[in-house]
Amino acid sequence: MRVVNAAGRASLVTADGLVDVESASGGALPAGPQELYEHWDALRAWAADLTGAPVPPRVVRDLGPPAPRPRQVFAIGLNYRDHAAESGVDLPRAPVVFTKFPASITGPSATVTLPQGSVDFETELVVVLGRHAHRVPAARAWDHVAGLTLGQDLSERRLQFTPPTPQFSLAKSYPGFAPIGPELVTPDEFPDRDDIGLGCRLNGELVQQSRTSRMVFSVSEIISYLSSIVPLFAGDVIFTGTPAGIGAARDPARFLAAGDELVTFAEGIGSMHTRFTSES
Ligand code: ZN
Repeated sequence: MRVVNAAGRASLVTADGLVDVESASGGALPAGPQELYEHWDALRAWAADLTGAPVPPRVVRDLGPPAPRPRQVFAIGLNYRDHAAESGVDLPRAPVVFTKFPASITGPSATVTLPQGSVDFETELVVVLGRHAHRVPAARAWDHVAGLTLGQDLSERRLQFTPPTPQFSLAKSYPGFAPIGPELVTPDEFPDRDDIGLGCRLNGELVQQSRTSRMVFSVSEIISYLSSIVPLFAGDVIFTGTPAGIGAARDPARFLAAGDELVTFAEGIGSMHTRFTSES
């Protein structure tokens, strides 16, 4: 099953086009893409019986973020071996966790205004929760996932590493610094939900490419670890870390500039097109 935020309304992607969830369910399910995660089990049951529903497809060009207002956003640092190596740090023994404040979330075709500094790109698989999760063992973690989408963990490196202590969460939370989308795809849609190819192109040049099977901590391990400490809510978002190839690790360093176009892609999820402009 594939769900998108079509002009602020949750819609299923079907062979015949988009099906508006609220109207096609006769109001049994909510219209809001964020509220829908509170009804995820009901959505799955309803969608399983949907074949042939007489609802005309909607044509929507601009999709919004599939989880526009999560209560919590978690992000994992140093979760690919090659990225830890290019960052010059040892592999973490437990997940390195920070937040991107929810105000930073935007859609998959956004134009982002670059603040002063050194803004970098980080392609990431993004998990959206479909159930409350507290103290969940890794073996049952996937049962709590609504679906997977794609994200960019945009990061302003100067603020991130200004002494005396790093400011990961603030430096990664300027407006538009968390583009996610285009679709929320349920785990059963993937041949292997733990081995998804992903990457990004900057102005056409391939700058990141990897597979989620190379993560240090898997999706199951991340959910188990986070939920051992913090209760997770349906609709919460987890950025799972970036592979090698970020701008700061290049020689010379390569940061985003006004006029750049970043295309982020993942197998089975699609692609996001993010453009950049500067503060006027
Ligand atoms: Zn990241």
